[in-house]
Amino acid sequence: MITSICGINWGDEGKGRMVDLLSRDYDIVCRYQGGNNAGHTVINDKGKFILNLLPSGILRENVVCVMGPGMVIDLKHLCGEIESLRKAGIIISPENLKISDKAIITMPYNVLQDVMEEDRLAKATGKPYGSTRRGIAPVYADKYLKKAFRMGELLNPDLLYKRLPDIVDWKNMTIKAYGFEPVKAADMVAYFEEYGKKLKDYVIDVGIYLNKANAEGKKIMFEAQLGALRDIDYGIVPYTSSSSTIAAYGPIGAGVPNLKIDKSIGIMKAYSSCVGAGPFTCEYFGEKAERLRELGGEYGAATGRPRRVGPFDVVASRYGIMCQGADEIALTKLDILDDYEEIEICTHYELNGKIIDDFPFTDVLDMCKPVFEKVKGWHCSTANCRKAEDLPKEALDYIHLLEKLCGCKIKYVSVGAERDACIVMD
Ligand code: GDP
Ligand code: MG
Repeated sequence: MITSICGINWGDEGKGRMVDLLSRDYDIVCRYQGGNNAGHTVINDKGKFILNLLPSGILRENVVCVMGPGMVIDLKHLCGEIESLRKAGIIISPENLKISDKAIITMPYNVLQDVMEEDRLAKATGKPYGSTRRGIAPVYADKYLKKAFRMGELLNPDLLYKRLPDIVDWKNMTIKAYGFEPVKAADMVAYFEEYGKKLKDYVIDVGIYLNKANAEGKKIMFEAQLGALRDIDYGIVPYTSSSSTIAAYGPIGAGVPNLKIDKSIGIMKAYSSCVGAGPFTCEYFGEKAERLRELGGEYGAATGRPRRVGPFDVVASRYGIMCQGADEIALTKLDILDDYEEIEICTHYELNGKIIDDFPFTDVLDMCKPVFEKVKGWHCSTANCRKAEDLPKEALDYIHLLEKLCGCKIKYVSVGAERDACIVMD
């Protein structure tokens, strides 16, 4: 049984929270793309955790976590994340954490490149990409240029150190062009020595492990970072991440391109939020935005940046559901709308006086205006609801309306950040 958990919107839909809950029925959770630009917040009986690199299944004792070849791994950051979880009493060992030998290593110079380029863009165009500045775009570029280092190389450091000087020289050509001090090969060796050594025992061919587990009938979950609209191919390029956030990439990014996904569960928020730059057609401004941002606590988990917010966007979500091949939806943060007497929904976009329903190309998005419709709110707390029949009628109406407008079954409704604050719909 293979299930994919993916984001329908711009990210921060509550994927970590849903993986933490749903992984109770799984044996293995694999992160299949992205790096430490992720911020997955999980709140359960063990405490509050913000996971950047580790799969959100790490908090369950009986779950094995896998970091797949589609990921980019900042060695120092991962060591820090493992250390802080250990301090909170979470057991992490090569028994329950397996890192793909094919996963890419994010280098300190990739982080520098990210900062240099965002600053250059801001100065030159006034329009930076809104990067988290954690080296993600440069390290994926290095991967496709075949200049990146992979986790498996930590097992043969002599070979790695032979390859290193030329790559550092090549990288310094870029760094110098930005007017920055070149990096030193010795510092890169120190990075591998200090952090790589701590991680090498976790490194295996995860494909062998996962195929064996699958043959034994183990249940496997793929966990995405970010959402469909941040995908490198299908998202709002260039305001996207640099990897594939799409469920169909799950088997490739997890290390098992031969396996097929049985179920894709899309995580979709009851309203919209978008961290960083780019077109965001349904965006609220002024007081409306402030109210929703405060109610939803919409500040980036990885960066602390205030997130842009708006009402639920049918056009974008329907596109996200298509991209993710979602079989069912988990609708999160319904409780954030408890206060509203009336709730807006962005049902269509208007482009040059015409109503459109298909999510357009990025450039065209900038010209689109949102069309809002209002529905009656429930205006009472849903935080303690645990069954569909506990929900007020207007909340059920809202859920059913989104289901109809998006054309996908809403199977789960989350009404709080804590593990059990979730309703399984009939
Ligand atoms: P992710 O990146 O998709 O894992 O999502 P984030 O963790 O970045 O953002 C989701 C935020 O909403 C986190 O702070 C969660 O604790 C919180 N959250 C998730 N589901 C719910 C919910 O149903 N209600 C409320 N109030 N908070 C939620
Ligand atoms: Mg997040």
